[in-house]
Amino acid sequence: MNLKPSLYGFDLEEIKRLTVRENIPAYRGDQILEWLYKKHAASFDEARNLPTALRSRLAETYLFSSLTLTEAVPSANRQSTKFLFRTQESDILESVLISQQGRETVCVSTQLGCKIGCVFCASGKGKFGRNLSAGEIVEQVALIEKSLGKRVTNIVFMGMGEPLDNFEATMKALKILQEPWGFGIGARRITVSTSGITPRILEFVKRSEGRVRLSISLHSSQENKRTELVPINKRYSLHELNEALKKIHADLKREITFEYTVIAGVNDSKQEAEGVAKMAKPLNAKVNLIPYNPIREMEFKTPSGEVVDKFRDILKSHGIRVTVRQTAGRDINAACGQLRLDRQAAAQ
Ligand code: SF4
Repeated sequence: MNLKPSLYGFDLEEIKRLTVRENIPAYRGDQILEWLYKKHAASFDEARNLPTALRSRLAETYLFSSLTLTEAVPSANRQSTKFLFRTQESDILESVLISQQGRETVCVSTQLGCKIGCVFCASGKGKFGRNLSAGEIVEQVALIEKSLGKRVTNIVFMGMGEPLDNFEATMKALKILQEPWGFGIGARRITVSTSGITPRILEFVKRSEGRVRLSISLHSSQENKRTELVPINKRYSLHELNEALKKIHADLKREITFEYTVIAGVNDSKQEAEGVAKMAKPLNAKVNLIPYNPIREMEFKTPSGEVVDKFRDILKSHGIRVTVRQTAGRDINAACGQLRLDRQAAAQ
């Protein structure tokens, strides 16, 4: 398949080089950036202040947009909406918009599928497709902003894929999301969540100067159990991860969050909660408990409210800041990657 490159994903320097190559005035580059990252044009036709001849010439080589929004499914309470997009090769990817407390948070995907294979996650099921480009990552935000009719306030890299396994595209997307010529979203409003590729975490913190928020998908405080649930733990152990986080905390004093999916009878014990507290305390880390969201293909069960409360109270008794995420949107298959799996199965 002969695919044209999309202008989404071009940064300021690349646009400058494009204007030189095409022999057009520099201000045309600023106009293109504005059509991409502020006005979210889907095609050259929409970029009306560019001369028609220039638009036709650029359209011979480039696409404006490379994703197509195919479906937006709101949850019954309207607090979250799943968006499905089609890539140029007709692969499906998904993002979620969470509208809560005046914030519009987009959860973006960074890969088609995921190689990490966490046993409770729909994204880790099925074949890994490919890394998304920086353009495909930021275009999810652009298309959601366009459909919403207002600016998105927060971004979390917690959708399909492991962002640090698609490192350079993630770093570039972060730049486009933050820069004034891009989306202009403050670094403290962006969170990158990782399963724990320790050397990449250190590199990410260094390159983002510790400004972008870091969230660790913990899911167990016990070495063996974590290896069962999050197989990357075999390669980068909890011990190694913890040492790296201590270093980051000592150097930067930045807030770290632990995401912890509570699965009934699997990782909901007192021992687990005490272990999480032991890790979180010296890091001053916040813990976000997520009651497991059932996925049809899997046998794991959602814990009772009582069990989650007990887990939370143990953490609190150690002075840990803890929140329990509401499983909003179970009716729209909000479990990570589930709706995409359904649509892919339907297309086969
Ligand atoms: S939880 Fe995240 S890292 Fe684990 S398989 Fe799912 S998408 Fe990948």
